[in-house]
Amino acid sequence: MKAAILAYHSQNIAGNTSAENDHVALATDLDALHAAGCRFVSLASLIGGVFDGAALPVDRPLICLTFDDGCDWDVHTRAFPGHGTQTGFLQIMEDFVRKHGKDAQPGLHATSFVIASPEARRLIDQKSLFGKGHMSDDWWREAQAHRLLAIGNHGWDHNHPDLEEERYARGGFEVVNSLEDCRQQVVQAAEYIGQKTGNRPEFFAYPFGESSAFIRNEYFPEKRDEHRCQAVVGTEPGFVSGASDRWNLPRFVCGRDWSEPVGLLKTLKI
Ligand SMILES: [Zn+2]
Repeated sequence: MKAAILAYHSQNIAGNTSAENDHVALATDLDALHAAGCRFVSLASLIGGVFDGAALPVDRPLICLTFDDGCDWDVHTRAFPGHGTQTGFLQIMEDFVRKHGKDAQPGLHATSFVIASPEARRLIDQKSLFGKGHMSDDWWREAQAHRLLAIGNHGWDHNHPDLEEERYARGGFEVVNSLEDCRQQVVQAAEYIGQKTGNRPEFFAYPFGESSAFIRNEYFPEKRDEHRCQAVVGTEPGFVSGASDRWNLPRFVCGRDWSEPVGLLKTLKI
């Protein structure tokens, strides 16, 4: 079995080619992966099959989609300042279903990893985006209920450098290495997101792809009753198998690991 988790960011827009724009990349990658015989599966299906003995198709390469940071372009077709209207990631997936028929890829699904804290989102939006409220949470519930999407947990505040409160050194996620800090970043976030969506998130994505040995090797494996996550994704490139670390699954990242569909198929050795 070959299985890969791919990561896209809907705010990665610097032009209109696949290399410069994750929306163009997602649309062209979906078609290329489909044409190459891949099968799309949800993160829940993949994890259930790899770690928990659920049935999983093994005849074709399996592809799992994830979106990080939860900007509104994940689900909304909207203008991106300087670059015109961008088709939302969800609309790109819906276009794919319309084009190929709903039976072509019945497992097509993506997990959108959102940042919980409204204050953190406000500051990141203000300092790193355009200060126009492009990191809202009014779409989370509908997204969670959508057949093509689920909402995942990307931490309480991403420990983003744009934050003002100096809880610990800002930037990077390796500093989250105590029980108290893990509880804030994982559990407090899960509870907040769960209230908004009606479903507590089943998956966590490490901000910046970074993790401390404590959160990876102790907190997540030992506190399952508390965090109630099925698995955690990082950003080390690689394929997912039963030998992978369930609490730091590898992912290929658009823009870093490939910049056009041919390169993606090469990266995936398809
Ligand atoms: Zn992130």
